[in-house]
Amino acid sequence: MFDIVIIGAGIVGLAIARSIAEQTDKSVLIIEKEESFGRGISSRNSEVIHSGIYYNPDSKKAAYCTRGRDMTYEFCKKYNIWVNRCGKLVVGKFHQSDDLELLYKNAQRNNVPDIRILDKREINTLEPKIEADIALQVGCTGIVSVHDLMAAFYKISQEGGHDYLYKSTVVGADPKGNGYEISIQNAQGELETVSAEWVINAAGLESDWVAQMLGDDYPTLRYSKGCYYKLSSKWRGAFNHLVYPLPDKKHGSLGIHLSFDESQMVKLGPSAHWVQDRTEDYDVEENLLDQFFTEGHRYIPGLEKEDLSPDFAGIRPKIWMDENPMPDFYISHEEDKGFPGWVNLIGIESPGLTSAIAIGEDVASWII
Ligand SMILES: Cc1cc2nc3c(=O)[nH]c(=O)nc-3n(C[C@H](O)[C@H](O)[C@H](O)COP(=O)(O)OP(=O)(O)OC[C@H]3O[C@@H](n4cnc5c(N)ncnc54)[C@H](O)[C@@H]3O)c2cc1C
Repeated sequence: MFDIVIIGAGIVGLAIARSIAEQTDKSVLIIEKEESFGRGISSRNSEVIHSGIYYNPDSKKAAYCTRGRDMTYEFCKKYNIWVNRCGKLVVGKFHQSDDLELLYKNAQRNNVPDIRILDKREINTLEPKIEADIALQVGCTGIVSVHDLMAAFYKISQEGGHDYLYKSTVVGADPKGNGYEISIQNAQGELETVSAEWVINAAGLESDWVAQMLGDDYPTLRYSKGCYYKLSSKWRGAFNHLVYPLPDKKHGSLGIHLSFDESQMVKLGPSAHWVQDRTEDYDVEENLLDQFFTEGHRYIPGLEKEDLSPDFAGIRPKIWMDENPMPDFYISHEEDKGFPGWVNLIGIESPGLTSAIAIGEDVASWII
């Protein structure tokens, strides 16, 4: 019997494991269906440390993102993980001034530091290759190597004596005694069981299915696929800031934005398309080229179609509630539903990577 089972070794499961390892020597088993950690949503995203400007001030997303942002910068400094606090510009045309002003006010309500509205001349000075009439500059946005961040959490967890069970899929769960019996299909296709007093469901794209092993009273996910296109090497190092359009409220995404990585290669994305059946298809459709060109060309006038080529895709786990495409995270210790010791983390889409350390700290505090 383990004290704690964590289902899913993505950034959220690993951040929880890290917090537990730093505070206690409780026994922990992390069960992961892939052959190593960080193969799910956490390895297919924009790697942006978000500021917290977008989210409803009363939401978990706002609270975890703003706390997690600062904790992530601190953690990266302590563990020497590559990070670039480059800041970002949310750009628009004159007719979008009201929307930009609303975003600015929301950022103020969320106490996001280092924000100001820029005019065309200031935008041009900061980003000569960007065309916009107005912009919101956010200084505390950055980019990070997510893989290095996860590797650091993993190392702390391993040094804490945690066990990892790979190529093993959780297929069932039942309350038993003062804990839970978890059924697993192992790498050989055989069924086995483990027991634990606490179970943390951090199963990303399958987190709703895992929760529903206990009953129907939990959110259901819809998948929203996001593709990226990369820009040719002639654009390498061409930008100093991440550049975003105003959010795409209809699809619940931040819009096709410009970001770059440690090597200064530039990419555009992610797009947003609902996936009808819940297949994990990561192909980047070539017929999206026109859409990427049109959206990128709006703020990068020098962009040409031949500069763009398909890069990679990720899938957002979206809780679909009351037709709201911008739902909050579902993070809950289910004791009120009759399941003490069971914690569900469902719908951890963006800004989940930014929020992971703060989420990890809270979940660990419920256990310890
Ligand atoms: C396109 C895109 C862009 C994004 N950009 C950003 C960004 O710039 N900044 C930001 O803060 N956030 C961003 N996000 C969100 C962020 O990537 C996620 O919130 C975060 O990675 C979720 O981590 P996770 O650990 O919950 O999920 P995952 O990384 O998917 O981990 C869950 C793990 O559970 C395992 N698993 C699933 N089912 C089972 C099972 N039954 N048994 C055993 N194991 C199981 C999976 O294999 C997986 O490894 C983005 C997301 C997407 C899709």
